Amino acid sequence: MDHIVATDSQETHFFADVCKNFDHAAQFTKHDAGLLDQIKSCNSVYRFRFPIRKGNGFEVIDAWRVEHSHHQSPTKGGIRYSEMVNEDEVMALAALMTYKCAIVNVPFGGAKGGIKITPKNYTVQELENITRRYTVELTKKNFLGPSIDVPAPDYGSGEREMSWIADTYATMNPGQGDALGCVTGKPIALHGIAGRREATGRGVAIAARECVNIGEDMQRLGLMPGLAGKRVIVQGLGNVGYYSAKFLAEFGAVIVGLCEYEGAIYNAEGLDVEAVFQHRKSTGSILNFPGAQNFERSSEGLEQPCDILVPAALENQITVENVRNLQAKIIVEGANGPTTPEAEAIFYEMGGIIVPDMYANAGGVTVSYFEWLKNLSHVSFGRMNRRFEENSNLNLVNMVEGITGVALTPQQRSTIIKGASELELVNSGLEDTMIRSYHEIRQTYVNTPGIDTLRTAAFVGAINKIAVSYQNLGVWP
Ligand code: NAD
Repeated sequence: MDHIVATDSQETHFFADVCKNFDHAAQFTKHDAGLLDQIKSCNSVYRFRFPIRKGNGFEVIDAWRVEHSHHQSPTKGGIRYSEMVNEDEVMALAALMTYKCAIVNVPFGGAKGGIKITPKNYTVQELENITRRYTVELTKKNFLGPSIDVPAPDYGSGEREMSWIADTYATMNPGQGDALGCVTGKPIALHGIAGRREATGRGVAIAARECVNIGEDMQRLGLMPGLAGKRVIVQGLGNVGYYSAKFLAEFGAVIVGLCEYEGAIYNAEGLDVEAVFQHRKSTGSILNFPGAQNFERSSEGLEQPCDILVPAALENQITVENVRNLQAKIIVEGANGPTTPEAEAIFYEMGGIIVPDMYANAGGVTVSYFEWLKNLSHVSFGRMNRRFEENSNLNLVNMVEGITGVALTPQQRSTIIKGASELELVNSGLEDTMIRSYHEIRQTYVNTPGIDTLRTAAFVGAINKIAVSYQNLGVWP
């Protein structure tokens, strides 16, 4: 174990909460206590500080990279840019990445990064300097590389930051053919992959759809099965929240509430997510959207009437303080750690169900995996087989038309003949992953006596898979 610096004076409990959930789930497994301890611990915590030029002076930036588990390589996880980042939070998020990857069968260990800044307080040039310097520090310490540790976007970061990381790493590693696989969530023009930007939100929407499609579970909640007409409130209109809301609406749900840090809006008739997004862009606030009720205190928005609540902003949003005020029957966790363990227990007592973060928001890492595979193989998905598929389909259609004497319309022909594009393959892989994983978790939930939540079931599945990896490595009997 490689522990470079791991102290933090701030009192935070997020990592302890993740460990609490882990320990609770571990009771339902039969693994050696030492092995469980190895799975649970953070393997490497790298804390560092570096100066950047700001205005006429300098500023020292605090940053972290945590590799939680090396049972698979590389490790993987986003980089958070936020003034609230601290070591405990990065450790917790790295641990969640380990379990998340195991749940959706993505062969990575978990990691996470943090840079303690509020991005809007810096110029683009300063953000670029910070990101490039962060990359240099990670590279120097062997905390970055396509086979070592592969970051991605998280709260406060996106494609732009990922392209700076890729460029810096490639520059420092001349001749390394796989260098661009050192980070995912890159722009498509820089060897990113179609569908990555919206992947987490699309995955959240699929997770919600799978949950509400199970008739017996919905009956217990007093709801009709299916997403059609389900009332949804989403917290956070960033990458995860915006796309979750957009795809949930596309799947037939009605977005009745949206919450941002400056306030919340609600309209029982439904909100047009794109129009709200544009309204916020032009006015600088989500408030005063035509036809919607305003809530100056954003957290009040979470407590309005709905069937499904999607927290997609930050951790610790649903706590013992507010959980009893929620009217939702289902929480689908777009963010990492939005519900505290105590609040989760109360929500289940209230008869609700929580689709846990480590599964619900795993769409991002799933498509990041596809991007990494694309970068290592140096070929985009569909390039080898698309034309072959189209020719085969064309021959089949011609043959059937010849035999039956029935001619298809040009539109029918092109629908049948068309080979799959990269985006279609990515979406198909994502959907398949989200559907399979939900049913795997639910089976454990339903079939294991004593398991009280979907989260515990998800943890049990993850622990068992990681234990097998250690056993295969010959590390544990
Ligand atoms: P983002 O920076 O794109 O968006 C976050 C949004 O939340 C912002 O619009 C911000 O203004 C809003 N917000 C902040 N505090 C709020 C509050 N108190 N109330 C309401 N809104 C608030 O970040 P993101 O990438 O969408 O990440 C959001 C969450 O999803 C994080 O927990 C992150 O770890 C998790 N996540 C992200 C990804 C990904 O692919 N980006 C993948 C998995 C999990």
